[in-house]
Amino acid sequence: MTRYIDVNDLSYLVSQKGLQTCISEMAEYIRADYLRWQDFEKCARLANHSPEGVIELMPVSDAALYAFKYVNGHPKNTQSGMLTVMAFGALGDVDTGAPVLLSEMTLTTAIRTAATSALVARYLARENSRSMALIGNGSQSEFQALAFHAMLGINEIRLFDIDAKATAKLAANLRAFPAIKVILASSVAEAVRGADIVTTVTADKAYATILTDEMIEPGMHLNAVGGDCPGKTELDRRIVERARVIVEYEPQSRIEGEIQHMPQDSPVTELWQVINGRENSRQVTLFDSVGFAIEDYSALRYVLDVAKALDIGSTLELVPELANPKDLFARLAQRPAAQHKKRA
Ligand code: NAD
Repeated sequence: MTRYIDVNDLSYLVSQKGLQTCISEMAEYIRADYLRWQDFEKCARLANHSPEGVIELMPVSDAALYAFKYVNGHPKNTQSGMLTVMAFGALGDVDTGAPVLLSEMTLTTAIRTAATSALVARYLARENSRSMALIGNGSQSEFQALAFHAMLGINEIRLFDIDAKATAKLAANLRAFPAIKVILASSVAEAVRGADIVTTVTADKAYATILTDEMIEPGMHLNAVGGDCPGKTELDRRIVERARVIVEYEPQSRIEGEIQHMPQDSPVTELWQVINGRENSRQVTLFDSVGFAIEDYSALRYVLDVAKALDIGSTLELVPELANPKDLFARLAQRPAAQHKKRA
């Protein structure tokens, strides 16, 4: 049987552990998996583009487990009451191919993206960083704020979004965390000025210029999360040219990241190298995040471990369970457990 975690199960799992604990623990799973980078069979994700968005499949495997995620990105969805990013995913057993876990991944993606961002910043942001500008105050933003608070001790967050209602929503949600000082900025430049870390997590299917070069001060760490598709970026090219750029998986980031503006041989460092050898630099650093399948593999591995430990979720007969594995036909003759409702 396949363990099944729906949105309700995942919310319950987070309520049992605490969101900041989930973020920190998932970051450890991600770190552990990036440390064994060579164990994974990797490829750039497969993206199907349409005028309004993209639907992507993200597979990866090691010797034990195969993972994939289905995820979309449709920035105009919120205008019709839908999420910009929605996802689900699965884990399979490599020895047999049997599906082990089928899980919601919309909430899980927000947690894993924030966990990855904060993990990277722990290696690259200047020590004693305390303030972060957070540009783009939609669905991902609370997760980013709480990840940086939990994992780096960021206790001042400056918010800006072109949609004032999104900023008001984020500020209201962060009121439950009084240790975080929230500042509402009236422009990107005001939010960024003097910040230790700048996170951009906007959604627009365009070559946007959320950050201009003039805004960037020496030693800032930039966490650019929203530019993750061909034709969808957030930064002035001059920033990318002068920053030390960290990507997850170069073949995928050359297509999707901020570095799509750069020559194919522009220097980048892959994240696994940063995690393997801690470095410190006074340079501007840029995590050109697009999301990589290993992070989803780690996230699903974490969800499965916690779900087993806390007995969360249900089981599905996603593939037939047979007395005789050569007699698939017999499964059709078996009396169905529940009859499908007849359509009126
Ligand atoms: P969302 O639609 O809920 O929120 C996006 C916010 O960006 C909106 O509030 C919008 O008003 C704001 N925005 C748009 N243009 C802006 C601008 N010029 N200046 C300031 N704010 C602006 O989307 P979300 O789910 O929060 O996702 C945000 C982005 O993160 C998306 O682009 C998504 O594709 C990306 N994402 C990346 C990863 C990754 O691993 N790198 C993972 C998940 C989501």
